[in-house]
Amino acid sequence: MGKAEIITIGDELLIGQVVDTNSAWMAEQLLEVGISLYQITSVHDDAAHIRQAIDEALHRSDIVITTGGLGPTKDDITKAVLCDYFHTNLVPNAEVEAHIHDLYQDRPEVLNRLTATQWMVPANCKVLPNRVGSAPIMWWTMDGGRWTMHNAQLFCLPGVPYEMEIAMREQVLPAIYTLTAKRSDIRQRSGQNRTLLVSGIPESALAIHLEEWENALPENLHLAYLPKDGTIRLRIDALDAEAALEDKFEELKTLVREWLVIDEDKPLELVLGERLKAMGRTIATAESCTGGRLAALLNKHAGSSEWYMGSVVAYDNRIKEEVLGVPASVLNTVGAVSEETVRAMAEGVRTLMHTDYAIATSGIAGPSGGTKDKPVGTVWIACATPEGTFAECYHLGRLREQITLRACTKALIMLIKKL
Ligand code: ATP
Ligand code: MG
Repeated sequence: MGKAEIITIGDELLIGQVVDTNSAWMAEQLLEVGISLYQITSVHDDAAHIRQAIDEALHRSDIVITTGGLGPTKDDITKAVLCDYFHTNLVPNAEVEAHIHDLYQDRPEVLNRLTATQWMVPANCKVLPNRVGSAPIMWWTMDGGRWTMHNAQLFCLPGVPYEMEIAMREQVLPAIYTLTAKRSDIRQRSGQNRTLLVSGIPESALAIHLEEWENALPENLHLAYLPKDGTIRLRIDALDAEAALEDKFEELKTLVREWLVIDEDKPLELVLGERLKAMGRTIATAESCTGGRLAALLNKHAGSSEWYMGSVVAYDNRIKEEVLGVPASVLNTVGAVSEETVRAMAEGVRTLMHTDYAIATSGIAGPSGGTKDKPVGTVWIACATPEGTFAECYHLGRLREQITLRACTKALIMLIKKL
């Protein structure tokens, strides 16, 4: 065998109220220790459904991880289902009880009879500490002669993402790592991959460009295309430890150098920020069609205050003129979506905020407002730099949301390429 899988538990996941980010995060972490997932399953807060999913997974895989349904409320029933499944009952756990008292020492109102159910744990599992929450982490394992099934390991984690992440990092991944060191068959793939990002070429054209090279790749290397917001991420996966990953990645970089933006898997705003920080430089933005999304991206990561100064959302022409100093004559002749306007916006905000760099966007995001000369999707972007200002016109599709996101991506790429 040699398989791992995840079961996420909660009605909210199946009605679209909460996006299952737990699985994506865990999949990434597991791959880092060389374990690729066989299956991800989401089930309702329903005893029969949870039981069936766990039973199938334990018959199929070596490692099964569940998240969710461990809370003290009526809708969280995972613990009861597990007791039933593993023919055991709940017993008080003194360590968990002490931990919960410690956790809530400043909030005595939380220590009620429902919270008290949190230190009741199934008698035949191993309890791992949950440093930041009240729900115990449960592990059914061979170790110590405890209950086991088909040699499979079952870990049950809380659903709250930050609790799950800390539990994974501090408890589950080290346990799995020790386990896989003993059981070499669980380690299926090398888990290694390399990713680069290209922009300015359609996916199909890129695939044709790479066809011959891709067809000649050895069996233990696999190439994946991941398009997003007008860019394409290319990821090479090494399927085993012998794969010539680095050599082939270098070849790929050479083949796509014309469109290459970065040779790592990192958010563009982070790449831009790191470069600005390393240079000791600052940036501001002036946004029309992107409506503040660039600003939101630039302040997304901790530490951005070192290089990101601020933004003017200059949606109306009056703001472009009064706040950013775009000449009325420009707005009245060539219009807001023009090279002259975005240049003046970028230079205006750079002066206003005393920054080294500035980016400005102005475009027609639609659905209305397009003309024959400037159809929906036309976006002008300018970068003002200490070495001068440059601008580009793009045609970024027809859908409002798509145009806006692509405009942000293009703007970041323009400046990253310059730096
Ligand atoms: P608690 O002990 O805090 O009650 P729990 O284990 O019972 O935790 P749930 O009640 O199932 O967890 O979920 C708690 C919250 O965690 C939910 O409101 C939901 O927002 C979030 N959550 C649950 N599962 C996932 C998931 N797979 N991905 C992302 N978020 C999730
Ligand atoms: Mg729940």
